[in-house]
Amino acid sequence: MSKELPTITILGTGYVGLTSAAFFASAGFKAYVVDINPERLQVVREGRSFFYEEGLDSLIAAGVDSGKLIPTSSYEESVTKSNVVFSCVGTPDKPDGSSNLTYVYSAAKEAANHMNPGSVFVQKSTVPVGTGEKVQTMFKQASKDIHYVSNPEFLREGTALRDSLWFDRIVLGGDNQAAIGTVMSLYERVHNKRSAIARIAVLDAPARPPEGDYISTSLNSAELIKVSANAFLALKISFANSIAKLADAANADINEVMNAVGADPRIGKAFLNAGRGYGGGCFPKDVSGLISSGIQHGVDLEIMQAVESVNASMPGYIAEKLLVSFDGSFKNKKIAVLGLAFKAGTSDTRRSPGVALANDLAKRGAVVRVYDPEAAEEARPELRKSVVETSTIEEALEGCEAALIATDWPHLVNYPLKDYAKKLTNGKILVDCMNRFDPKEVRLAGLRYIGVGRR
Ligand code: NAD
Repeated sequence: MSKELPTITILGTGYVGLTSAAFFASAGFKAYVVDINPERLQVVREGRSFFYEEGLDSLIAAGVDSGKLIPTSSYEESVTKSNVVFSCVGTPDKPDGSSNLTYVYSAAKEAANHMNPGSVFVQKSTVPVGTGEKVQTMFKQASKDIHYVSNPEFLREGTALRDSLWFDRIVLGGDNQAAIGTVMSLYERVHNKRSAIARIAVLDAPARPPEGDYISTSLNSAELIKVSANAFLALKISFANSIAKLADAANADINEVMNAVGADPRIGKAFLNAGRGYGGGCFPKDVSGLISSGIQHGVDLEIMQAVESVNASMPGYIAEKLLVSFDGSFKNKKIAVLGLAFKAGTSDTRRSPGVALANDLAKRGAVVRVYDPEAAEEARPELRKSVVETSTIEEALEGCEAALIATDWPHLVNYPLKDYAKKLTNGKILVDCMNRFDPKEVRLAGLRYIGVGRR
């Protein structure tokens, strides 16, 4: 007789929770997704996601159809029937930069009210080191026999399903080896079923899939691994951006520089791309959360403060470079900002540099026209009223003197340069905010080129 699969509840139907629920359901687990936001649940009931992510809608539709993926607002309906509860609620930052753990604690408390003795609570949300110990104490004080595992999430928006199916590592932190084993077995099943899941999602397998390590650590180490990984990537970006400013001043090309710097395998090329800086729902808050953790423990993480301030300077730095071409004033200049998502492949506009650039230029008097293939709706409430939303590249470029390519969506980068040149007027300036274009080709097409740290 085959062993019955554990039932799973995922708390939080956001980018992480919904993606996780979709692949667990596709691997054959009964997976409840719980949220306090009825609109997000309604979208899942309709068999789709509230955000754009390649392949996800197909998995959600299949999961809802088969009855394996069950959206609900009720902890009672879901948690009481589950062996494993994943918490994927949001951990935004507070105005002082520290992590707001309200959702983490309230989800854990509510789950504890309904969890069965011996079941496993898995923390997937990114939390400051020490949070798991506090949640465990909470469980103990409520006399609940719940096993706690920290399982930080490493998926990236835009490649969330690929990252989950062909993961490079699963980190599992805690002191209960049986509970860690239970969580590991869920991922092993996903791993074994990944070809079938990828077929439903219509995703190709990577040419060279990573080994997929399982890394078992202490609880506190697992929590610190997640924020340190994000902080290090942010540090690489801000390092490249600092050198890009020097390259601008010294007439060097940052792409040439970082290409050769990253050729050293001890350094690596990833995340050394200079440009408008990082954004999104993770890096900015994880960096500030790490700084706060440092302060709380009496450790000065000055290096991360520098990372933050370099990053914050980048949209303004790009605007200032463009300002020179406009003789010091943006007043009534028509400028297109193409790309509002914080990165390509997602509709997420949280802390998006593209949005920051559009608002900054509009604030300084420019007539700003924006376009994004997926993120227009999400960006709308964050954009200044005067910013004009358009629905095609051509419409955005209409009558503009400059186009800022703020997100490297492939069809913005691959849009023919001659068509940018044809559409743009007067100065015909292409601002390459992510250094994705070849300056020579841009100039050959009859455009003026402005990059970040490029001659
Ligand atoms: P999100 O804001 O998109 O989703 C969080 C969801 O939790 C929301 O829908 C919210 O309504 C829900 N929620 C809040 N309180 C709840 C409760 N008590 N019960 C049930 N649902 C509740 O967040 P996200 O981007 O999915 O991120 C979740 C966590 O994962 C964060 O800690 C984040 O740092 C981390 N993370 C995110 C990513 C990413 O790419 N987005 C990657 C790795 C890690």
